[in-house]
Amino acid sequence: MHEVKTTQDRVEQTLEHGTFDFKCTACGHCCKGPGDVYFTEEDLQAIKDYLQLSAFAFSRLKRKLIQERIPGYYVHRSGDACILLEDNKCSVYPVRPMQCSTYPFWPSNFQSKANFRQLKKECPGTMSGKGKPLSAETVTRRVRKTEKQFLEPQSNADRPIML
Ligand code: SF4
Ligand code: SF4
Repeated sequence: MHEVKTTQDRVEQTLEHGTFDFKCTACGHCCKGPGDVYFTEEDLQAIKDYLQLSAFAFSRLKRKLIQERIPGYYVHRSGDACILLEDNKCSVYPVRPMQCSTYPFWPSNFQSKANFRQLKKECPGTMSGKGKPLSAETVTRRVRKTEKQFLEPQSNADRPIML
């Protein structure tokens, strides 16, 4: 019978030395390159308030930011970089969407050793030895949080978001 792996199984099998450390270097790499950034209605409202935008400026930002609507989310298709990245920093960092605040604790990053190697290549804050070592249990809790809060609510959608 095919064995079903839990999130904890996958995290444990991925971590080479049993722990994970992460300390963001603010390199901006994860905000660059083609990719989709998902915003809820509340995220957009929080960005409007944080940037203290007028109704006019907010609607102009939305026109530039949002290329598609899917159930529950507004989608920004970033080209070279997310348009909210300014001077290599997130201009809405305190109110960035959950997809961004949960990185790199995404299920895909702990799906396999190959994915984990790719994460280390792309994110210099991962396994740099500068962050506090986190146990597999703690990593699992963080990844489960991403699954529960971000992915599971739209798991019945036609095109569920994968992270
Ligand atoms: S790629 Fe990693 S280190 Fe660089 S900004 Fe993103 S989270 Fe931080
Ligand atoms: S919202 Fe901020 S953290 Fe998220 S991709 Fe855009 S610039 Fe990066």
